[in-house]
Amino acid sequence: MILFHSDSQHRENKAIWRMFETKLLTTELSKGYPWKWYAVNIPMDLRGVSGTKGDIDLIAHLIEPPINPDIEPPSFYRTWEVKVSLLDKEANPRSLKREGRTQKIIKQMQKTRKYGASSVSLLELFVLEDGFFSKHNFPSTEVASVMKSRFVELNNLGFGYQVLPFEHEQVGDTDYGLKSLNAIHNPFQTSIRLLESKLTDAQSPFLDLIEALNNFYLNWKPKEQSRPFFPVISFCKTCRDLTMVYPDHSITCSKCGVSLL
Ligand SMILES: [Zn+2]
Repeated sequence: MILFHSDSQHRENKAIWRMFETKLLTTELSKGYPWKWYAVNIPMDLRGVSGTKGDIDLIAHLIEPPINPDIEPPSFYRTWEVKVSLLDKEANPRSLKREGRTQKIIKQMQKTRKYGASSVSLLELFVLEDGFFSKHNFPSTEVASVMKSRFVELNNLGFGYQVLPFEHEQVGDTDYGLKSLNAIHNPFQTSIRLLESKLTDAQSPFLDLIEALNNFYLNWKPKEQSRPFFPVISFCKTCRDLTMVYPDHSITCSKCGVSLL
């Protein structure tokens, strides 16, 4: 089934993994910084670190550019709350302005900040129906007005805001190829960076979560495949533990093989 038609319950998860499968979209998230790993759908209460319910959709472990080769460059961490909206080929939005949606998003982002994350942004993925870009510009007037009001609220609270529209060609029942913004001018800039998140000092329990993720990454011993070129850590609900995903290969748990889509 194509992403545009996937059911709403699984769409967000599928759209996040699609970013990693297509890679071009995630390079942009790192803002050009080198990265060690990304982590997707990580429970805030991983291994009992916090007692907080809920997940962090996306975490990036980024590295400052190395200046002195003898000193390990400092790391920093960005987190995103990910939301998905659909625009059909006639530019009609679906579920974009649902009552109270912005407030719900902000509540979740405040929770992530309170949890101790140092940088919290909204990443809004716009999944466009095949044919959108051939007829319309992004953002359409209606989308732009919603983006504007979200911008004001997120800016007031010091949150970041990034918007990433992309379109696949539909071939039969599968997605094919990738169209996104600015592909002609700069293939590595595919999202609209509207706001940078205010940086605060990372606190526990976020720091404990990061420690667990870093330890998992450093101790990961690949069974058959080599160390992933593009490591993405996730949480397998079957294994009840962290797992390494090789997006080049398949979106499955590398321990038990179950699909994470
Ligand atoms: Zn598993």
